[in-house]
Amino acid sequence: MNDETIRLLAIDDNADNLITIRALISDAFPSATLHTALTGIHGIELAISEDPHVILLDVVMPGMDGLAVCRQLKADERSRHIPVIMLTALKSDRQIRVDAIESGAEAFLSKPLDEVELVAQVKAMIKIKAAGVLQRLEKEQLTSLVQERTLAIEKELLERRETEKKLQEANLKLQQTQAATLELIEDLKVEMAARTQNEAELIRAKEKAEQSDRLKSAFLANMSHEIRTPMNGIIGFSGLLSEPDVNIAERHHYIKVINDNCQQLLHIVSDIIDISKIEAGLIEIDIIDFCLNELMDSMLENYLPKATSKGLAIFLHKEMVCPACSIAGDQSKIRQALDNLLTNALKFTAKGQVNFGYRLIEGKLQFFVEDTGIGIAPEHQEVIFNRFWQVETGLARLYGGTGLGLSISRAFIRKLGGDIHVESQQGKGSRFIVNIPYNPSGVKPNAKIPVSNRPDNFKGKTILVVEDESDNFEYLQIILEKLNFTILHAWNGNEALQIFSEHQEINLILMDFKLPDISGQEVTRQILRVRKDIPVIATTAYAMSGDRAKALQTGCVDYLPKPIRPEEMAELLRKYLGSNDEG
Ligand code: ADP
Repeated sequence: MNDETIRLLAIDDNADNLITIRALISDAFPSATLHTALTGIHGIELAISEDPHVILLDVVMPGMDGLAVCRQLKADERSRHIPVIMLTALKSDRQIRVDAIESGAEAFLSKPLDEVELVAQVKAMIKIKAAGVLQRLEKEQLTSLVQERTLAIEKELLERRETEKKLQEANLKLQQTQAATLELIEDLKVEMAARTQNEAELIRAKEKAEQSDRLKSAFLANMSHEIRTPMNGIIGFSGLLSEPDVNIAERHHYIKVINDNCQQLLHIVSDIIDISKIEAGLIEIDIIDFCLNELMDSMLENYLPKATSKGLAIFLHKEMVCPACSIAGDQSKIRQALDNLLTNALKFTAKGQVNFGYRLIEGKLQFFVEDTGIGIAPEHQEVIFNRFWQVETGLARLYGGTGLGLSISRAFIRKLGGDIHVESQQGKGSRFIVNIPYNPSGVKPNAKIPVSNRPDNFKGKTILVVEDESDNFEYLQIILEKLNFTILHAWNGNEALQIFSEHQEINLILMDFKLPDISGQEVTRQILRVRKDIPVIATTAYAMSGDRAKALQTGCVDYLPKPIRPEEMAELLRKYLGSNDEG
């Protein structure tokens, strides 16, 4: 530091002393500025306003002495850093010096002042002040630096917090978006799965519809063939029959062909009606007590000629004996199902044998029909039970048929609480198995009346035939005339009631249920109200299957399904009237 910048302050109540000090200072520091004050108060003011490098302070002063001034200077923030040199005249007074140091003075000089000592002290004090200033400056700088830094850090912290907050918010949003995305993906997955399933179902439905369509077309083509073939036989042989030169043997043969073809046609019509009823859910169960062995025997009797004519052996297995074989069930449906199986067994077997029969297995009746025929491939063993389905397709068919038999059989058997399936090996043969519940009736059904070989004679008996179809009536008339009946005919219900009221001699009534005016059922009820013992036999078309029960409920003694076979009718008439030839 050069002298020009040095500022000094001398405080002394003695003006002479101040002059001495000025002189000394101007010698030692010629360019320095010296402020002077005669009182402590003034000195303090100057110290604050001028901020001198050093204060030279007299101890003994009137009013406020140097010690008090020094204490005040050191107590004030603005002046405390200015070094104070106490000037004391009392060189030997130790107490004063101690007091001076305690009041905050940095040094002291004894009067009279020694120039060298004063200069050295002032220089030292200037250094102290400079060091203090520097220190203060550094401290201030440091403080402001710390403040700046703190502010910067706080700002940074604030920014960081805000960033963190934003990050958290963004994270939350991201999480929400992620959750929403995951949900969306899940929804999409579910939708995709549903769509795939829908598509698969649609494809399946389409395939099924197409297959059904193909099967129906094939069925119609088959049907045309299956109906035309017997029709051809009937028309052709009817024509031959009317030729004048036909001998008896030829006539018998032609009639047999016509009859066989009629049966075949009837069978097709029955199948079509049955399948329509199955589809409409109109199948009805007609439970009666019957003898299983009798049924099986009659089937063997029926199929034996067919098997023999094909060179096949046919065997029947019956496991039970009467009365265990008396069961309660729908005889006609069981028979129809077994008929289909036996017809197929004979149809699809060229050599070997056909076995059929029944067993009792685990409380169930198990029927079986097995053959040594062409067999059925594993992939066809289930589908053959579908309607219209045949292994053979196309025009070059070897076996014929409508593809209805097995589906009808299965529907009937299921309706009876059972099921049907096949076990088969291609080229070796098939075994159809039918399981139904075994319901022993416990009663022995009426023994079948043996068919008499003698011609029946009902001479003296009067029969009322209620029939609206002329061909049907003509047919019945021919048969009944042969049996020597007196025949009365009614075309409708009202006429029947009229004739019945006029003819007490009527012994039996053949009643068609389907009449143009009143139903046959109603006519029967009215007649039975008048004569409850008169036997009424209902004649029903096959298409009205299920009417057997209806007929019996109405009060009829029996029923005859159309087409009526003469032997069957004669048997029933004998049952209810007795024949003149009996006994
Ligand atoms: P259909 O005999 O009139 O064709 P079904 O419903 O009775 O109709 O039979 C369907 C198909 O099952 C037959 O066309 C045949 O392909 C096969 N099938 C049935 N029974 C036998 C059998 N015993 N042996 C070989 N194939 C059979």
